[in-house]
Amino acid sequence: MMVRMSTLLLRTLREDPADAEVPSHRLLLRAGYIRRAASGGYTWLPLGKLVLDRVTEVVRAELTAIGDQEVCFPALLPAEPYQTSGRWSAYGDDIFTLTDRRGAPHLLGPTHEELAALLVKDLFTSYRDFPVTLFQIQTKFRDEARPRAGLLRGREFLMKDAYSFDLDEAGLVEAYARHRAAYRRIFDRLGLEYTVVTATSGAMGGSVSEEFLATTPVGEDTYVACEACDHAANTEAVTTPVPPAGDPAAHPPATVHDTPDTPTIAALVDLANTRRLGGRGDWTAADTLKNVVLSVHRAGTDEPELLVAGVPGDREVDLRRVDAALSPATATVFDGFADRPELVRGYIGPQLLAKLGIRYLVDPRVTPGTAWLTGANEPGRHAVDVVCGRDFVPDGVIEAADVRPGDACPACPAGTLTMRRGIEVGHVFQLGRRYTDAFAVDVLGPAGKPVRPVMGCYGIGISRLVATIAEQHHDERGLRWPTVVAPLDVHVIAAGKGGQLDAALDLGGRLAAAGLRVLVDDRTHVSAGVKFTDAELIGVPRAVVVGRRLADGYVELRDRITGTRTEAPLADLPDALARPA
Ligand code: ATP
Ligand code: MG
Repeated sequence: MMVRMSTLLLRTLREDPADAEVPSHRLLLRAGYIRRAASGGYTWLPLGKLVLDRVTEVVRAELTAIGDQEVCFPALLPAEPYQTSGRWSAYGDDIFTLTDRRGAPHLLGPTHEELAALLVKDLFTSYRDFPVTLFQIQTKFRDEARPRAGLLRGREFLMKDAYSFDLDEAGLVEAYARHRAAYRRIFDRLGLEYTVVTATSGAMGGSVSEEFLATTPVGEDTYVACEACDHAANTEAVTTPVPPAGDPAAHPPATVHDTPDTPTIAALVDLANTRRLGGRGDWTAADTLKNVVLSVHRAGTDEPELLVAGVPGDREVDLRRVDAALSPATATVFDGFADRPELVRGYIGPQLLAKLGIRYLVDPRVTPGTAWLTGANEPGRHAVDVVCGRDFVPDGVIEAADVRPGDACPACPAGTLTMRRGIEVGHVFQLGRRYTDAFAVDVLGPAGKPVRPVMGCYGIGISRLVATIAEQHHDERGLRWPTVVAPLDVHVIAAGKGGQLDAALDLGGRLAAAGLRVLVDDRTHVSAGVKFTDAELIGVPRAVVVGRRLADGYVELRDRITGTRTEAPLADLPDALARPA
């Protein structure tokens, strides 16, 4: 294959596009791989499509190798299966919905668990048909609240989604392990640096799930990794080690104190120490119990429900963690204090919440028997020795508090957590029977009794991967594609016109005939300098410059990845390209 730059649909940009905030977005636009066509929607230009197809092929090959079978579901779907599964409302505004000419509601597929379950129900009747895993590579649609960073978060994007069906849990665990291993091979082959982290399952439902996060500072996901063991988890899924419970009766009775002008934790701690509340002068924010009022929104209901989250006062409530805990419901900070005088802003304590009928969930550190300095539910007053299990009984536990570097690792005794950023490129789930239950997928079992299969689902963001690879493989001059996904193998540059151009085209033809995919810069109206700059921007791994030394029978070989330059006799090509530069 030989592509000529003189006719290629390509226009490189000298300047950084104003709306591109991350390197991959800037470079993919500048080097002519993609063009923005809509909010969260990009056109793949020829170079971009070549990379996209190569990434797709790596993914397809590794899934086919573990026995997955490729199908393709429609992207335009009737609402009904998604209404049956509950996701029509759980996804809420995140799905694109539309109505056909007969008035029937439809959606553009955000992911296809429903369709996979229905297909298996439609075709398979006996335990002998199992296990089976289907996958597809298809454009997905999600009305993302904040499409950003080009391909990293689109409203239309290419995903590989696979669905496994097994007769029992052991089969599911095996299918999950098989996909997890295939994912490692895929991301290793693609030259990615990544971490596998424990995740929450979001709107999917199900239990065990892990994400593959490519490490880069522009990642939207934050995750923690233990410095002592191999534990890693998405911040949303980090669990807090639970301290042992104490004896609620071991504390003196709660006492209420005037604490004027202390609506913040800092002011309260100051005053508590100055006035030696409870006979102590060593109060810290961690001794206080902060109660944050949240409005919980559930799809399909108009009125939000009130929820109070109790966290140690040295921590903030992290709404992303709250959302992950409440999913598919979402939470916002309550701002209707004017209409609820019984909730005294800045002085809320948990003592009254049960009586008010407000759900109260606490941080795992708030164990029975712990005593707290907290609000007394009156303006300017706080209470000391408010004991969990005695003065209040929480309705449950919630991981709402923010996670910090240095927090204790939940998986090993002495380790502490560090925080990193990543881009989610893949996600594997053990779903269980959520969807086979929803559609009553039953097959005849070996003993004549019906069996309901268990599902796993496995996603890879293919278009996001293109940007992620660019994010990890570039320098200040442009892209540096790993060989496996580069749009072309060799970039032949005719430094001048006339004989150099003829020789470059001739060489391009020879390299293509030898099986290489070749880009020839045969433009006659641009200088050699511009061609070199463009070549570095475009980032094909190897370049051959046909320049002045052609007269002596030599060309220059440039390696975009290592930066090395060497000379080689023209006659030695293509063999000279096989040797490291
Ligand atoms: P995110 O948390 O980034 O929104 P998600 O958890 O909603 O992603 P999944 O439902 O797990 O995404 O989808 C499988 C894969 O599809 C993700 O791991 C990611 O690589 C990719 N993906 C998801 N949303 C987008 C998007 N808006 N643009 C591009 N790729 C996406
Ligand atoms: Mg995910």
